[in-house]
Amino acid sequence: MKKLGICVSICAKTAEEFIESIKRARSVADVIELRFDCLNEIKPEILWSQIKQIRQNFNGKLLATFRPLEQGGSRNLTPAEREAFWIHSHVFEFVDWADLEADFSAEDINKFWGKAFEKIIKSFHDFKTPPTNLDEIYNRISAGSDLLKIAVRADDVTDSISVWKLLARAKFDNKKLIPIAMGEAGKWTRILSLAHGAPMTYASLETGKETASGQIAAQDLIQTYRVKELNEQTEIYGVVGNPVSHSLSPFMHNAGFKFHNLNAVYIPFEVKDLDEFVMKFVRVETRDVDINLKGFSVTFPHKEAIVKHLDYLDETAKAVGAVNTIKIEKGKLFGFNTDAEGFIVPLKNSYGDLRDARVAILGAGGAARAAIYTLKNEGADVTVFARNLDKTKKLAEEFRVQSSKLKAKTESYRDFDIIVNATPLGTFGEFENKTPLLAAQIENIKLVYDLIYNPYETRLIKEAQKANVPTIGGLAMLLAQATKQFEIWTGKEAPIKAMNAVVLKKLS
Ligand code: NAP
Repeated sequence: MKKLGICVSICAKTAEEFIESIKRARSVADVIELRFDCLNEIKPEILWSQIKQIRQNFNGKLLATFRPLEQGGSRNLTPAEREAFWIHSHVFEFVDWADLEADFSAEDINKFWGKAFEKIIKSFHDFKTPPTNLDEIYNRISAGSDLLKIAVRADDVTDSISVWKLLARAKFDNKKLIPIAMGEAGKWTRILSLAHGAPMTYASLETGKETASGQIAAQDLIQTYRVKELNEQTEIYGVVGNPVSHSLSPFMHNAGFKFHNLNAVYIPFEVKDLDEFVMKFVRVETRDVDINLKGFSVTFPHKEAIVKHLDYLDETAKAVGAVNTIKIEKGKLFGFNTDAEGFIVPLKNSYGDLRDARVAILGAGGAARAAIYTLKNEGADVTVFARNLDKTKKLAEEFRVQSSKLKAKTESYRDFDIIVNATPLGTFGEFENKTPLLAAQIENIKLVYDLIYNPYETRLIKEAQKANVPTIGGLAMLLAQATKQFEIWTGKEAPIKAMNAVVLKKLS
């Protein structure tokens, strides 16, 4: 069987929405999964003729699924209801393939109708922890099937290894297996499985229409991750952090790889336990999977913790005490900090000479460290303000700058030229409507630099506009640090325009 590509899964409550979605899926799907169990009611007289028409104008395959709730379906189904659907509803006349759960046999259908479906997928789903008996499950669903699908839940990235490793067994057995690790931490399996021998990967019709946790929109799989072009030689990069679902880095770096036509892809890796990730995915001597990992970005909360795993550190990373970029070469891990340069380039472009500029940095975390280091190098006069005075004092002593407690909303920052927000206040989610200061506190300030990039215009930026203070948003830093990362990994000039355009589109 040739590689199929993308299977778009359609789940809708009403027949109208169901049919409309199937029609739209045709432009991106190689296979369309019709999740009949999602429908409130199955009315053959309405559905069959429309599905028949859709099938005539579709080059791919239609796959029927009717899954009971306890196996990951959308509603309770009695054995009699399942039998009525598969055997007596004549669905096989209108679709090509069937997805049957392990407890339902194709033989039951075939004894009535002969070979009713062109292909049978046997599937297994587990929504709790990854089961330890995956080989046994694989054996169980192998009989009487053309394709196997095993989907398990991954709470951390390493939970997805056991299901991924079944791919090697399937290759040896000459079987077609679709391994899926569900959840954000399993997204990498959805992106890379085609390249490593799976016949297809499941996708949603669009963002927000996922039928399983961690599913990626078909357009993103095709255009951002280029899953149909990847192979086992593809160089893998990614972002390692927790959370990573909000990250725009996959869009930026993949746009760069595409621009230069590189056989490389950048993937989100949601990592809770960093030590496990390094041991099982990264270190040649101990790793459990080899996906040709060549480097990764490191983000919250691992920027400082990663340092102990590295073989070499560049000067900036050493001085900042945090790493946001790893390059892997001949099994060795090289750490860099591109946040420092990413921070200072837009600031200098906007403000000019920073010598003796009085800069207030709000926040005392990883981003603040990079900012303080590079501002000191430029000769700026830096004060760190944060809510935890002990932590702030320690940081200030380390870098020989001043420190103070974050000001109350009634106190002014009038003694400063530049304010930098390095706290998460204002960022998408729970902090979105928050700001570390109000317009009245920054009259006469020359520049406000908010490191937050999502949303594009934060509450702080709006406060600065109210006070007529010029601003820089976090997108400038995001792009500048990513540009440098791209150059470290590929040795090529980063296509800034293409990378910027894709991020602006995502934020609009
Ligand atoms: P971090 O290491 O977690 O540090 C965050 C700092 O903000 C800490 O000092 C923390 O104080 C403080 N903070 C957290 N919640 C607060 C609150 N409710 N009120 C006041 N202070 C609070 O994070 P980071 O890596 O430095 O990142 C900071 C921000 O910069 C994030 O929003 C991140 O997205 C952004 N950033 C942007 C870029 C870019 O390219 N544009 C790059 C890096 C970071 P405690 O220590 O007391 O918790």
